[in-house]
Amino acid sequence: MKAWLKFSPRIVNKHVISDLIKTYDVTFNILRADITPKGGKMLIEISGSEAEEGIKYMEKEGIQLNPIKKVVKKDEDKCVDCGECVSLCPVEAIKIDENWTVLLDDQKCIGCGFCTSSCPTKAIKIAY
Ligand code: SF4
Ligand code: SF4
Repeated sequence: MKAWLKFSPRIVNKHVISDLIKTYDVTFNILRADITPKGGKMLIEISGSEAEEGIKYMEKEGIQLNPIKKVVKKDEDKCVDCGECVSLCPVEAIKIDENWTVLLDDQKCIGCGFCTSSCPTKAIKIAY
């Protein structure tokens, strides 16, 4: 499961994530993070036999968790299939199909944002 974690200033200094990894059988991937002493957000991917318990633990410790299905969203009306974003994607999450349509694979996307900043029509956005 991919999710945005929201950290309030009250919990940024707590070692919730390291305790989570030590305590539960979870695989925890940080895909993107923007955290300062004032709080912030982290995009993560969590799996494993105790992922559900791990999620409950994070919420109990004060981390707000918003599960997401899509890391990036493409506005089909704005996309002109120029292909500019394809070569910039470091994990090959963007492809051009046989009809020259640009497609996103959200399972592969790590939310780096390279595509969003390169798009001339602002058709791709990170989904918060
Ligand atoms: S956000 Fe990064 S990983 Fe995701 S599709 Fe765009 S370039 Fe690829
Ligand atoms: S850069 Fe923007 S307009 Fe071009 S293919 Fe990618 S999403 Fe579509």
